[in-house]
Amino acid sequence: MNAIRNTLAAAVLGTAGLLPLHAHAADACALEISGTDQMQYDKKELSVPASCKEVTLTLHHTGKFPKAAMGHNWVLVAGPDLTAVDSAAAGVGIAADYVPNDKRVLAHTKLVGGGESTTVKFSTAGLKAGGDYKYLCTFPGHAALMHGVFKFG
Ligand code: ZN
Repeated sequence: MNAIRNTLAAAVLGTAGLLPLHAHAADACALEISGTDQMQYDKKELSVPASCKEVTLTLHHTGKFPKAAMGHNWVLVAGPDLTAVDSAAAGVGIAADYVPNDKRVLAHTKLVGGGESTTVKFSTAGLKAGGDYKYLCTFPGHAALMHGVFKFG
């Protein structure tokens, strides 16, 4: 009887280890963020430990509006460059996802519309642990609401 109970307990524990929640928590270098039709990100802060050599970021657009009306991207910059990069983006067309070809852009996703997702993988080799980093959506007019703090380390 005890043997059966122990076997069952082991089976339950074994299954628990495979739950997606557990697997997700294990990868501290993978981030997810969503953008909405209300021109908002769902997170004001993202953080990864400095031990991450590479970061995988997935952006979901949880709204319904098309890319041309309410497109969202995710652009990583040094904090002091946020306004300048946003201004530069205004001069870039939607065909280039409103991402300026500029070395102040440290990483970026594509521009997506409602219901779409996109993932970018980037190296952290150029980032300083504890540095001042921010992210924004460079679709014209969005950064005032759509920005956040990126913590590395
Ligand atoms: Zn946006």
